[in-house]
Amino acid sequence: AGPRLCRRLEGEAARAVLANADTLLFDCDGVLWRGDTAISGAPAALGRLAAAGKRLCYVTNNSGRTRVAYTEKLRRLGFPPAEPRHIFGTAFCAARYLRQALPPGAAAYVLGGPALAAELEAVGIPHLGPGPAALPGPAPADWAKAPLDPAVRAVLVGFDEHFSYAKLCQALRYLLQNPDCLLVGTNRDHRLPLEGGAAIPGTGCLVKAVETAAQREAFIVGKPNRFMFDCVASEFQVDPARTIMVGDRLDTDILMGNSCGLTTLLTLTGVTALDEVQAHLDSDCPARHSLVPDYYVDSIADLLPALGE
Ligand code: PLP
Ligand code: CA
Repeated sequence: AGPRLCRRLEGEAARAVLANADTLLFDCDGVLWRGDTAISGAPAALGRLAAAGKRLCYVTNNSGRTRVAYTEKLRRLGFPPAEPRHIFGTAFCAARYLRQALPPGAAAYVLGGPALAAELEAVGIPHLGPGPAALPGPAPADWAKAPLDPAVRAVLVGFDEHFSYAKLCQALRYLLQNPDCLLVGTNRDHRLPLEGGAAIPGTGCLVKAVETAAQREAFIVGKPNRFMFDCVASEFQVDPARTIMVGDRLDTDILMGNSCGLTTLLTLTGVTALDEVQAHLDSDCPARHSLVPDYYVDSIADLLPALGE
């Protein structure tokens, strides 16, 4: 295969690379859409890939949507129909991780939204915490007197727009109460980019807050951890040598794809510019070479010519 060189995927090479793949894993935000708007030409490109018999899966670090909600978003934006089992978001994958790691009947204290709660319910894990914190009194000293549920054996941290000091207190209390209490984070994305260079803090900030309080490192479900790929591989027969990971972020999508032996394709419609790749390529540090994709495109719409017509 040779070293990864981040070559533009076009022409005959694009046809050959796509012909050799039977599965494509798509990161979502920055690849298929930005916010609520499809990337121009992306629905058509995925339509052609589906028509060519490729298996399409969706691998996203966003814990704010259930599998079912992703199938609806894909349909609404004109992408080919997907079933919930093709969607691997960190809400679903975190629930799956806890299902295997927790004893039956154990509960999770959750910093997150309704999607995390729904995916935990779907695998039968009792949970408490989602939504605004219920404050037992006006001062932090009162919060530390709130009752603890003895069934809680894990603290799960995802995207939580109601994150608060009170919740942080409660998470720490569960982690201190039981040294075997698991600490799990959905992902470490530090920022969520908005249009025009603006950004909002990502889930990584919330995971770090709990890690700092507890002085423990969380297990991270999302990319770049290969746990996400293992979730895909446990649902479908996937041959890494015939699988392409398409993403817009080097330290999550591309790193996971490279570590799992997949062909990696960077698209420039999201958070990464080509000069960042060049800096990794020029570096003497071998670890930085795992951030270099095999190929890049300006947009996945550029795959259309290689898919015929
Ligand atoms: N986490 C949250 C809460 C998000 O809203 C997003 C993107 O919208 C992401 C993570 C990154 O998602 P992806 O892995 O699909 O780029
Ligand atoms: Ca992305």
